Amino acid sequence: MAVKLGALLLALALGLAQPACAHRKVLLLLLDGFRSDYISDEALESLPGFTEIVSRGVKVDYLTPDFPSLSYPNYYTLMTAGRHCEVHQMVGNHMWDASTNTSFEIGVNRESLMPLWWNGSEPLWVTLTKAKRKVYMYYWPGCEVEILGVRPTYCLEYKNVPTDINFANAVSDALDSFKSGRADLAAIYHERIDVEGHHYGPSSPQREDALKAVDTVLKYMTTWIQDRGLQDNLNVLIFSDHGMTDIFWMDKVIELNKYISLDDLQQVKDRGPVVSLWPAPGRHSEVYNKLSTVAHMTVYEKEAIPSRFHYKKGKFVSPLTLVADEGWFITEDREMLPFWMNSTGKQEGWQRGWHGYDNELMDMRGIFLAFGPDFKSNFRAAPIRSVDVYNVMCHVAGIAPLPNNGSWSRVLCMLKGPASDAPPGLPSSCCVLALILLLLFA
Ligand SMILES: [Zn+2]
Repeated sequence: MAVKLGALLLALALGLAQPACAHRKVLLLLLDGFRSDYISDEALESLPGFTEIVSRGVKVDYLTPDFPSLSYPNYYTLMTAGRHCEVHQMVGNHMWDASTNTSFEIGVNRESLMPLWWNGSEPLWVTLTKAKRKVYMYYWPGCEVEILGVRPTYCLEYKNVPTDINFANAVSDALDSFKSGRADLAAIYHERIDVEGHHYGPSSPQREDALKAVDTVLKYMTTWIQDRGLQDNLNVLIFSDHGMTDIFWMDKVIELNKYISLDDLQQVKDRGPVVSLWPAPGRHSEVYNKLSTVAHMTVYEKEAIPSRFHYKKGKFVSPLTLVADEGWFITEDREMLPFWMNSTGKQEGWQRGWHGYDNELMDMRGIFLAFGPDFKSNFRAAPIRSVDVYNVMCHVAGIAPLPNNGSWSRVLCMLKGPASDAPPGLPSSCCVLALILLLLFA
């Protein structure tokens, strides 16, 4: 009888503890090129969707991206164990592997799908999929790639600039997938704020319109969460990869062919704030010396790149790295500037915004917001860095984090309850309670 009573109590205890012990659902929204001041207190006055999220949850002052403040390096820093670029190896939007003569071109060419670019570190979605969690990804760059032999449960492949409707549908579909039990974590990528920021500038009405569209979707999203009864079981994290600053092609362009012969270069990757150069054999010193005299940019030999960039040890880092002063744009010559196809239907639109500069610059700062049962409400937090986001994601997903460069102490304050005192990966207090009851009655 005593044994039966014990078993009954145990079953009851486990039953009571189960809902909180079971992992809550997680929704990640990555909003490309979203500068921190786009949601300043003043800007929030005309953004009801964001305002509601800020009052319900956590908003950090800003998020400092990794160097270079470009997309792919930061997508990977955010998702691959919170590691710096020189650790996870995704050091640019355009990379070259000299040993195999293969190129990575912002993920769009076939060679970009090769494992050598991606296997430098394990992204969270791979860790979760290996742990038998169901991961749904929408337009997320790289979700179509088999990384370390693993693909997520579902990947709606990235396409060039997903629309606002695509974004709204992805949010709605992700919530349905949580409700039906198809997904444990969903991750959605949205690009339009970045694109308008590039084409028209960070302060342009076009960029503001793109933000308003996202705001509208977020307003719907909070209602949809309630409609589906997910509010006590879903944590939502919203963050960006970097910010955006004004550029001036009229007078702030550095043309390399004015200083060196382009024949002295074996390979050039990317244009803009950070350019990677591989000088031709025997031409290194000459190229370095000539470029050292150029105003408004710094040329670094690999070993001389500042350690604070956490970049120089990356295996795809070139022998020479050029870093422009803020607002300046480096290119081989004017013809090679990355014009965009504007309303004329020709590739002749001037870019008015860019990013990639020194990651400590104010304009390069991104955002981090979160709400849900594991986050404090109406809580303003001090700045964090892109390497810190991983620990938060692991904590709310209930999975042990891999070794990383993030700081647990910088994110602890935003989390609710006794679990916030424990390092990530430790069992939550309710699981400990269930364990004690199990031991008592076993
Ligand atoms: Zn961009």
